[in-house]
Amino acid sequence: MSGRDPHPRPVADRLAPFGTTIFTEMTQLAAKHRAVNLSQGFPDFDGPDFMIEAAHDAMRSGHNQYARSVGVPELNRAIADFWRRETGEGIDPDTEVTVTSGCTEAVIATLLGLVNPGEEVILFEPYYDSYRACISIAGAEPRFVTLRPPTGAAAGDIVSEPFTFDPDQLRAAFSSRTAAIIVNTPHNPTGKVFTREELELIAELCIEHNAVAITDEVYERLIYEPDRLPHIRLATLPGMAERTVTLSSLGKTFSFTGWKIGWAIAPAALSASVRAAHQYLTFATATPLQHAAAMALNRGEDYVRSLVNDYKRRRSMLATGLAELGFIVYMPHGSYFILADHSAFGEKSDVDFCMRLITEAGVAAIPPSVFYDNRDNGKKLVRLAFCKRDETIREALQRMEKLKKPHG
Ligand code: GLN
Repeated sequence: MSGRDPHPRPVADRLAPFGTTIFTEMTQLAAKHRAVNLSQGFPDFDGPDFMIEAAHDAMRSGHNQYARSVGVPELNRAIADFWRRETGEGIDPDTEVTVTSGCTEAVIATLLGLVNPGEEVILFEPYYDSYRACISIAGAEPRFVTLRPPTGAAAGDIVSEPFTFDPDQLRAAFSSRTAAIIVNTPHNPTGKVFTREELELIAELCIEHNAVAITDEVYERLIYEPDRLPHIRLATLPGMAERTVTLSSLGKTFSFTGWKIGWAIAPAALSASVRAAHQYLTFATATPLQHAAAMALNRGEDYVRSLVNDYKRRRSMLATGLAELGFIVYMPHGSYFILADHSAFGEKSDVDFCMRLITEAGVAAIPPSVFYDNRDNGKKLVRLAFCKRDETIREALQRMEKLKKPHG
């Protein structure tokens, strides 16, 4: 290298405000402090062997070149069959299903494919961080609707009422500039499962304002109280099939988050827009893994049933343990995260609390203020993942006993 400056250039304006994602940051900190990692949501165990075998078989039988851009036909068909089992509706696997590199790619492909610069996209906060960044990448403007925790709880309570939003705030967020709303149900990080009534209001407003609904349903199978709060797909509500892009993925359901297989389901015209972006983002997704994914969707029900049982037990373990330590626990009805209120420990913010948690107790968690437009709304909260082995959760709880409460 000569002594000349390497012509530095800062991160582009559309990305500069978002820095490094909290998931990368916390997982790196966890490694540095040898902490039990309940921050980034990924299992500390493998998915089923039959999928690993299926991926090997696909590689050995020559499925190693680019896949069809919109997905290998077997996987598109398996996704359409899954959709029919879940909703009773038949869809065309070749024109209405697009396979993407995880749901994360599906989110950005959908926004880039459907939303024009200057238009508005509504999202519920706390929001999964990529939505906010992708809205900016698309040149669009976010409008926020806040999900609020039930009030009146005290340290040590396990609260089973869900987070809710103010219908008037939602109504006010819609305007003639609204292009889309993003609805994540089951919701990360609150564990909220949107009710039929809530989805009906969203549907009514989308129809009234001619907006598209983009749903992120990656936790669709991780539902813990299906009688009280079943997973309802917005696309199945009257008038919504033609204006909804339903996104989901394989990773959470089959415990292979690193495979990065996701998809978008939408009527052909909307799918064409998603595909217009997808072809230039990744073009296609790992071919052998798509073959194994098809197998998982076709034959994986036993695995899913036992995984949900395991997660239900771990949800209780973590909730009970956190409540005993003095947190207010907001019981999730779906997903694999718990939000808890850490006020009893006397820290001013979620970031301070998470730093203390990692340095004093050796446990990594996510500070949820990064998921809010007004960060103050998240400062009392902490997110912990329970997609971990029983012994991992036990170890984390044991370590957290080292957290000394200010009073007693
Ligand atoms: N969805 C995961 C979580 O919420 C993170 C995925 C990622 O790191 N991109 O923890």
